Amino acid sequence: MKKLKKLVIAIGVILLIGIIIYFFFLASYVDKSRNVRVYDSMPAISEQAKKLHASLFIADMHSDNLLWDRNILDRKNHGHVDIPRLLEGNMALQVFDAVIKTPRGQNYNATDASSDNITLLAMGNRWPIKTWNSLLERAIHQRNLLYEAAETATDKLKIITYREDLEQLVADRKNDIKYVGGLLSIEGMHALEGDLDNIDKLYDLGYRMLGPVHFFDNKIGGSSSGLKKGGLTAFGRKAMKILSEKSMVVDLAHASPQLIRDVVSMEGVAVAISHTGVKGILDSPRNLSDTEIKLIADKGGLIGIGFWPEAIGSGEPADIAKAISYTIDIAGEDHVCLGSDFDGSTTIHFDSAMLAVLTDALIKEGLSETQIRKVMGENQLNFFLENLPSRK
Ligand SMILES: [Zn+2]
Repeated sequence: MKKLKKLVIAIGVILLIGIIIYFFFLASYVDKSRNVRVYDSMPAISEQAKKLHASLFIADMHSDNLLWDRNILDRKNHGHVDIPRLLEGNMALQVFDAVIKTPRGQNYNATDASSDNITLLAMGNRWPIKTWNSLLERAIHQRNLLYEAAETATDKLKIITYREDLEQLVADRKNDIKYVGGLLSIEGMHALEGDLDNIDKLYDLGYRMLGPVHFFDNKIGGSSSGLKKGGLTAFGRKAMKILSEKSMVVDLAHASPQLIRDVVSMEGVAVAISHTGVKGILDSPRNLSDTEIKLIADKGGLIGIGFWPEAIGSGEPADIAKAISYTIDIAGEDHVCLGSDFDGSTTIHFDSAMLAVLTDALIKEGLSETQIRKVMGENQLNFFLENLPSRK
């Protein structure tokens, strides 16, 4: 009997090691195959673009980098974002999103919420066991990853939680002290696990922007890719009120048209669309109509134009520049910003180190220097200076 018990334990241990190795390689494979950079190296750009790019304050509204099993402080050759590459690309402010649930077969038309790919990824990434079953714990863990990196490399990454942090970042850059400011956001308020008190918890942990929905309808409201695509629920309305009281931004990326209308019609809510395409360039259920662009702009919000082909066409920098120019025509030049979706299971032509190709494309598209300064980062800077809470 004793021998049998030992044998069972031995088989169990071997099996467990096998599973761990399997998931370790699988998670890395999924990361590399889903986050693709098209350019092998930095394309040639004009001297004018290089010079202008070096003088810009650059900000991006959306990266899913924390989802993947990488140390953000190490430079990688795949995907789009890590601190060395962000610094090389002259990025000053990057929003890092926690992605917490992605159903199998998710798509822009009708996504059913009943399955979840992130459970396997969490295991493969060797995240704490409590993240396997809890969406809130997944958000907390991804937040911890960014905080740990900021504690390790204090001169390269600082977390932005208050207006004063951002003012300090601007002052430091003027003195040529350059680091990346990281601002935390969540893609889908199913992270609350149905409990409004968790907004306080996420705020205390440093989160400053929350997206009501991701690919599927949830307790807050309807997704543009959900089954019902409804508006804001009574529960969602309460949640939006708390966000505005706490000076947290509502990210309406992935929201259904009705949800966008419902949230925008509420008083005192700060809204942004962190990453999107626009229907005027590419007609997709995921993209914003001209009416929605105007609604967001009239509310003082920002529209972050994505870099991935399903949002803006071929994905060439010239296409991104075209989508930005189109959106400026409708929203005005103060309401458009970058919403890359770097590392968001996306194929993007360039990574964050090669961002100057976009400055080059915007010049070629005919944008003025002032417009380029605004969309490349100043709009996002002003938006957060206005909408982040103050320490005072
Ligand atoms: Zn997204």
